[in-house]
Amino acid sequence: MRLTILGSGTSSGVPVIGCRCPVCVSSDARNQRTRSSALVEKGGRCILIDTSPDLRQQALRFGIARVDAVLFTHGHADHVHGIDELRSFNLVALSDIPCFGNEPTLSRLRRTFDYIFQDTGGESLKPFLSLTEVNGPFEAAGVPVVPVPLWHGKTPALGYRIGDVAYLTDCSRIPEDSLGLLSGLRLLVLDALRHHPHPTHLSIAQAVELVERLRPARAVLTHLSHQVEHAETQSRLPLGVELAYDGMSFEICESIG
Ligand SMILES: [Zn+2]
Ligand SMILES: [Zn+2]
Ligand SMILES: [Zn+2]
Repeated sequence: MRLTILGSGTSSGVPVIGCRCPVCVSSDARNQRTRSSALVEKGGRCILIDTSPDLRQQALRFGIARVDAVLFTHGHADHVHGIDELRSFNLVALSDIPCFGNEPTLSRLRRTFDYIFQDTGGESLKPFLSLTEVNGPFEAAGVPVVPVPLWHGKTPALGYRIGDVAYLTDCSRIPEDSLGLLSGLRLLVLDALRHHPHPTHLSIAQAVELVERLRPARAVLTHLSHQVEHAETQSRLPLGVELAYDGMSFEICESIG
């Protein structure tokens, strides 16, 4: 199984439009971050986590040729506004693309993208998607997935565990029951917006604290703002904790039995 970080940036992306701070003008590619999203490849199937506004660019850059299912974490613009790009993958799938999320996320998608979910009489080109509400473990494109409920400020969001990998973007608090779903991880991808606290995201220090509690083999911090300079911040992180960058990719061996 392979997980690729397609985008590692916060909602504005980095560089931020109009900003001349050292990170935004940095020539280090790891400081250039598209909006957060990830791809899981397993047994020839491709599962996309979120449809960021940068999805088209990400798909072209990383050669994504098919999408068999989409897992939505929540309905914020930086995680869903690339949904129209799924049209291209319909041409490969030749069927509806199954999409999964919690109830508030699916309601937001139906409202915000009404042209997709209403019958338009075939007059407009639109993605063909099916929405399935997630309340417990399920299968996406034949791959078992465990949803991990999270609090993102007051927004109920979902993280996802697939095998020994968990992807938890956009959260400020992980409920106790959800912590119980996160033992024995080989890879934990976790929200860490910036150095100082934020009402709806984990800070880097809070994320590191959670990593120390959950003890995954490897941890990667994502959804980074322009206040995080890659090399300088990385040098101060504990062993086994890394900052994400666009295109970072992991091959994870499956547990046997
Ligand atoms: Zn976000
Ligand atoms: Zn900046
Ligand atoms: Zn969000």
